[in-house]
Amino acid sequence: GDFPIETDTIVIGAGPGGYVAAIRAAQLGQKVTIVEKGTLGGVCLNVGCIPSKALISAGHRYETAKHSDNMGITAENVKVDFTKVQEWKAGVVKKLTGGVEGLLKGNKVDIVRGEAYFVDANTLRVMDENSAQTYTFKNAIIATGSRPIELPAFKYTKRVLDSTGALALEEIPESIVVIGGGYIGTELGGAYANFGTKVTILEGADEILNGFEKQMSSLVKRNLKKKGAEIITKALAKGVEESENSVTIKYEVKGEEKTVEADYVFVMVGRRPNTDELGLEQVGIEMSDRGVVKIDKQCRTSVSNIYAIGDIVEGPPLAHKASYEGKIAAESIAGHNSEIDYLAIPAVVFSEPELASVGYTEKQAKEEGIEVTAAKFPFAANGRALALDSTDGFLKLVTRKEDGLVIGAQIAGASASDMIAELGLAIEAGMTAEDLAMTIHAHPTLGEITMEAAEVAIGSPIHIV
Ligand code: FAD
Repeated sequence: GDFPIETDTIVIGAGPGGYVAAIRAAQLGQKVTIVEKGTLGGVCLNVGCIPSKALISAGHRYETAKHSDNMGITAENVKVDFTKVQEWKAGVVKKLTGGVEGLLKGNKVDIVRGEAYFVDANTLRVMDENSAQTYTFKNAIIATGSRPIELPAFKYTKRVLDSTGALALEEIPESIVVIGGGYIGTELGGAYANFGTKVTILEGADEILNGFEKQMSSLVKRNLKKKGAEIITKALAKGVEESENSVTIKYEVKGEEKTVEADYVFVMVGRRPNTDELGLEQVGIEMSDRGVVKIDKQCRTSVSNIYAIGDIVEGPPLAHKASYEGKIAAESIAGHNSEIDYLAIPAVVFSEPELASVGYTEKQAKEEGIEVTAAKFPFAANGRALALDSTDGFLKLVTRKEDGLVIGAQIAGASASDMIAELGLAIEAGMTAEDLAMTIHAHPTLGEITMEAAEVAIGSPIHIV
């Protein structure tokens, strides 16, 4: 017999959106059930953010071990045991997904394994291999995430890989072709280039990392080229022929047909929302024609007791955005007036050098008619950056001309991913360039670059003229 189980709030999907929403809803007094058909932690912890950063840092260690002669360090016979790299990476993932399970249990969230499907606006059916169970709920939060887009001419196989396959290789490939120079393609291409793989990136647009300013992406491009990578822009990938040990990719550039051969091809051309097999139409939840769920400022869908967060809604498909929306949705359900405000959401690329941006770029501000000052400070003028042998890059601070309000920042350089947090806080807290300039930053640190850029903004820099 299938007696429905009653719950207050049911969350579908246990990625960084769903598990955070579930914990916050439980903290706010709800009886919460979370349904997950795969592994706790979602894409981010299992096959996204975390394993990719693990692979990137292993590649970076290997590369710096080989190339520190300028510091007087020469290492011979530096070797990679890639099986061990993969085991270490799996261990990192396991610690975190185990941690999520512990956190959910610690907050008394019921974890249900299986695939969820909406029957109506208060009923969900959850199926696993051999059973089905009905749940009734007052509120639901959909956080089913996204999956890689498959190009018709590049069906996934043993050698035509999506990001999940690319992260799971058992050996370092001699060569790869990456289709798509977005952040995932650039990060993974860069990681394998560090391991010695010959990397070719095919990008349709004029530049890789299109969303970032050219001054920033060109630093990454230069670094990749230094590692022997080839970057072909305005290239249209047309098809692939696969043999036992290799793939041949056909592409077109400037009207000319060309081919490139490699061990594998990574197809990294974007992701699509997992909203097609949930019964959403049946419940009357409005979506765009691309399957993106429409929500209001409280993450509520067109059906008022059902919320949606993360990669299935508008905005950048990033883990921290999913988690942020998860908290907003849970708080909305608890009757708080929380609303989403995307102004200070950072975007980071874990390339070399790292790229990070928050708030307005100079160009975006101008397009909106805001008069701004853009103040730059180079990593090369910072003592810590020199001592780290990481002088590539700059920080650009965007402030409003009339009052010096910090409205944006872009960083290219070592630890840009961590440095951007201070700038996000400055925007959130409504700080001015003067506030940043008068904040005492420890010496010698990369954080001083932020202070110095703020001093440039107010016209009184100490360490550049
Ligand atoms: P997901 O993490 O996709 O989780 C959704 C979960 O829902 C999955 O576990 C899925 O199994 C489950 N599910 C789906 N349908 C059902 C159903 N019907 N019933 C039950 N369960 C279901 N973002 C960053 O911010 N920083 C990074 O550095 C970064 N690196 C990335 C690297 C790679 C290679 C990739 C692929 C992504 C990366 N991302 C990164 C993006 C990030 O992973 C996503 O933005 C994030 O995981 C989205 O979270 P989510 O909660 O919306 O969905």
